[in-house]
Amino acid sequence: MDTSKYEAVIGLEVHAQLQTNTKLFCGDSILFGAEPNTQVSPITLGHPGTLPKTNTKAIDFAVKLGLACNCEIVEKNYFARKNYFYPDLPKGYQISQHTTPICKGGTVPIKIDGVEKIIQLNRIHIEEDAGKSIHDLYDNETCIDLNRAGTPLLEIVTEPCLHSSEEAFQYVTELRKLVRWIGVCDGNMEQGSLRCDANVSIRLKGETTLGTKVEVKNVNSIRNVKRAIDAEIKRMIELVEGGGTVTQQTRSYDVNTDKTIGIRDKEDANDYRYFADPDLNPFHITQEFVSSIQASLPTLPNKLAEEFKQEFGLSDYDAAQLCEDKSIADFFNKTAAINSNYKGIANFILGPVKQYLNENSLSIDEISLQANNLSDLIKIIDEGKVNFSVASSKILPIIIAENKSPLQVAQELNLLQTNDSNEIEDWVNTVIQNMPDKVAEYKKGKKGLIGLFVGEVKKLSKGKADPKIVTDLLTSKLNS
Ligand code: ADP
Ligand code: MG
Repeated sequence: MDTSKYEAVIGLEVHAQLQTNTKLFCGDSILFGAEPNTQVSPITLGHPGTLPKTNTKAIDFAVKLGLACNCEIVEKNYFARKNYFYPDLPKGYQISQHTTPICKGGTVPIKIDGVEKIIQLNRIHIEEDAGKSIHDLYDNETCIDLNRAGTPLLEIVTEPCLHSSEEAFQYVTELRKLVRWIGVCDGNMEQGSLRCDANVSIRLKGETTLGTKVEVKNVNSIRNVKRAIDAEIKRMIELVEGGGTVTQQTRSYDVNTDKTIGIRDKEDANDYRYFADPDLNPFHITQEFVSSIQASLPTLPNKLAEEFKQEFGLSDYDAAQLCEDKSIADFFNKTAAINSNYKGIANFILGPVKQYLNENSLSIDEISLQANNLSDLIKIIDEGKVNFSVASSKILPIIIAENKSPLQVAQELNLLQTNDSNEIEDWVNTVIQNMPDKVAEYKKGKKGLIGLFVGEVKKLSKGKADPKIVTDLLTSKLNS
């Protein structure tokens, strides 16, 4: 089958749950994991006589993300009712800004194989979440949990300008990094705080009109966004090549079969009877408000990575890695303010520190590591008092657990390297004596064995022999 004549067209709709304390229109908590139906005031339940009141924090967050994505911030806004019936929508309508988004246009830059591509946004708007229907708890019953109903969301909608699953993968990765960076959403896809619907169509290469699209829903990880899009593109091409036509549908991705399944056909014009919610005041965004939000924004990750390269001479890779996560970037900055071995700091953070954090599912704010202790640890490596491997495997875990001076730890555990040449010479001699066969091989030309000898001395000295002195001494003895 010739798939190369087709081009995929993709547009993504991402829903980001906002990190407010309370719901969009009432004081119910939105904390994840509470007992079902415990965060449900009469307002959430849509009881007669209740009145919604806008949580202005959600508007702050919308403008924050809008500015971070170079959107136009709309001055005059209101909320509308989108009417439809669904069991997890107790009011019978969703309050949304579907037809009048607070942020228009905008861009998110991504990198594909090192080349920048600008993803065009159509809009970012505020809306409330629905409750949750739980179908898999009982065989013949569906349970409803309304805790989530009324949670503030931002919907971030791209233009149909992506052309591969890899672009979609990179876009959602960038967007997740951004919402976390500016503190509007925790980006946790497993818990549903970030959800992605992928709209997919295909057309023959060279064509400019859009093909019929399918919306793939319920994709719960970035990896699955990629897989779902690939599966849907494949299905569409096979369908069209087999003489069929794509129908406009909502589909769902099944991870187990790696296939999308049709859920419902989408009629062209759903009548949601939008109208401005009469219970809510329209809201206007002043220029002063926009300026104050702008001033509160941190330096964004791409710009900060540039600054790291300029200021500290870091490589593209190191700078980008450090700017994957704001708390890591901040920690690097703090350490770099007191120690000028920038490359050493970057290596230590991106190596052993990150490994520790990943293995223990922790963030750098959740451990006791202090910038001054990391700086001191790097200093004693640079001074030859301990080597990197002892520093990372023995001292780091201790200064991660408690605020302690690395030098003191090294002394207490007897880890300081010795440059006492007599002591080192004894270790070197012992190793040479113990390995006559290897020594003979080395002398016949197998020079790579030097690593083995250094390793043996390291073991014998329990990491206390400075590897550089050991290597020099071994080389001179073996070559003599
Ligand atoms: P709907 O009204 O069905 O939600 P929208 O026009 O609001 O459709 O678009 C929703 C998303 O689908 C956007 O991200 C848009 O870029 C994308 N999209 C629209 N048409 C297509 C298409 N033909 N192929 C792929 N994506 C599309
Ligand atoms: Mg839509």
